[in-house]
Amino acid sequence: MNPIRAVSASGGNLTEWTENGMAEILKGKPAADAIDTAVKARADALIQRGIAPTLAIIRVGDDPDDCAYERGAMKRCSRLGISVRNVVFTDSVRQETIMDSIDVLNEDPNVDGILMLLPLPGNLNTRKACEELSPSKDVDGVTQGSCAYLYSGYGTGFAPCTAEACIELLKYYQVPMKGSRIVVVGRSLVIGKPVSMLLLNENATVTVCHSKTVDLPSVTREADIVIAALGRPEFLDGNYFREGQTVVDVGINWSEEKQKLVGDVRFDEAEKIVSRITPVPGGVGSVTTAVLCAHVVKAAEMRL
Ligand code: NAP
Repeated sequence: MNPIRAVSASGGNLTEWTENGMAEILKGKPAADAIDTAVKARADALIQRGIAPTLAIIRVGDDPDDCAYERGAMKRCSRLGISVRNVVFTDSVRQETIMDSIDVLNEDPNVDGILMLLPLPGNLNTRKACEELSPSKDVDGVTQGSCAYLYSGYGTGFAPCTAEACIELLKYYQVPMKGSRIVVVGRSLVIGKPVSMLLLNENATVTVCHSKTVDLPSVTREADIVIAALGRPEFLDGNYFREGQTVVDVGINWSEEKQKLVGDVRFDEAEKIVSRITPVPGGVGSVTTAVLCAHVVKAAEMRL
């Protein structure tokens, strides 16, 4: 248990405290709102100079998760003065048609960012379509160009929005990364690997774990911060944590048993042990589209 916490990491004004030694809940919304405020000012400045920041969203099929993400992104874009162009195909679309459509968007000087909802249906080559995107418009960091940019700092590209959202959340709540021991559970190209690189850029000491890691609980318990990105509902239970830690739960999983969304962390157990934890839903996911909008505005600024 975590009996007393005297000071909130964020100064106590924007975080939610729970009673009796439970963890501080690091909600995504205040962090997203802070990003929005800065992005809106930059979008307004661009609009005044005759540039309308514009995001194209490519969706193939009607997957409910894709549609929900698209709606959320459109809502935030509209609030921030970012125009959206929706490019929608049916499941039966041919690869060439998608490639042609990406080429048109790449060449369009009025489109700043392109978000392709992934993965594409199984009959299509997702990797080939990703590589067709121009890295300068690749606002969700899916191309090899963005990867190289993230790893080397050279060239053009963006980090994947969810990975960057983890960093933004930690920064907002003033959780120190520099010199901290941070364990990332998961090594996907979307989250685990890019977030590890971003954390390294913040001067953290990073350990990346995966399905072959031996004795995972002993590794996660060593960390100051645990980033959970396994895609396994409530896999990390109380055994994986110790007092004083910060937990960022990236997972978004549907629990048949609970009939609700759950993270990769067993929240009810972890919140009694650690110092700070992000909720699911309402944590990292809320920051992801704010980062997306920030990337679109940055791309539009580069156009200027
Ligand atoms: P993924 O591609 O399936 O990768 C999962 C990673 O976790 C893999 O590297 C895998 O290891 C590792 N892993 C699986 N089981 C493990 C275990 N028992 N012990 C240790 N490591 C294990 O998933 P992802 O795309 O990175 O997504 C992760 C989670 O984030 C999912 O719940 C997803 O829904 C969620 N997500 C959230 C957002 C958001 O905005 N919050 C956005 C995207 C995704 P191996 O490499 O060895 O197989």
